Amino acid sequence: MAQTTEAGPGVPDLVGRRALVTGAGSGIGRACALRLAAAGAKVVVADVDARAAEAVADEAGGEPWVVDLADTGALATERLEIDVLVNNAGITVDRTLKNLTIADWNVVVQTNLNGYFYTMKAALPHFMAQKHGKVIHISSFVGKAGNFGQANYAAAKAGMVGLSKALAAEVAARGITVNCVAPGFIATAMTEALSAEQRERISGAIPMGRIGTPEEVAACVVFLASEEARYVTGHTLHVNGGMAMV
Ligand code: NAD
Repeated sequence: MAQTTEAGPGVPDLVGRRALVTGAGSGIGRACALRLAAAGAKVVVADVDARAAEAVADEAGGEPWVVDLADTGALATERLEIDVLVNNAGITVDRTLKNLTIADWNVVVQTNLNGYFYTMKAALPHFMAQKHGKVIHISSFVGKAGNFGQANYAAAKAGMVGLSKALAAEVAARGITVNCVAPGFIATAMTEALSAEQRERISGAIPMGRIGTPEEVAACVVFLASEEARYVTGHTLHVNGGMAMV
């Protein structure tokens, strides 16, 4: 279903659309929620952290949804009546494989990959019925390049790329697109733990010479959520300042 763009050429118009962003209580998810709202969407701010979800929902003029996306039971019977699904919630538990426990593996894969599958299952019936829907998964350059001490995280981030491509093929004829956005290093709570020295070293390895911002990732998400991107599916858009040209 084509949507007329009233905001002018090049300006994504999501007026009348309902978007759900997971992990929207902080960082990249928060930036996505605010930017989707600025483009006119009604936003559901989903996060396991109730206070964060409520605060961002206030900012975005949307509604909070306090949910643990790693909880199979919480989502098994859920039906999401939305137009745009941004799967962004993510965690890290970094250890070399030698030290990685089964629990470390499971919690990261459960949150960062299985949780995305659960929300997709919950959104798909509505997308199929209305013959329109946008799914955007936040992957990572680590899913493509690997990273020391991040076997669990890299597996989940690479897994969602394959998952997205398979689903993209299954639902393309129904007007549903499925894409990934793969950030490089972005300034959020997830990267706050880096020392000044590590930051300098990382910035030095990025052709643009700096770590990115959540807003720079959110701009790409909003593009993929808009009708401007209606012929783009099964794609991974890398947002990394040239750090990994894959
Ligand atoms: P962040 O820690 O700032 O935000 C993550 C949010 O997800 C938090 O609000 C947290 O409460 C929520 N969350 C965590 N587990 C959850 C669960 N089980 N259910 C519901 N909500 C949950 O992180 P961020 O840096 O904004 O990362 C967002 C996404 O971007 C993640 O998927 C991350 O892997 C990815 N990413 C981040 C970077 C980076 O450099 N920051 C780089 C590449 C990819």
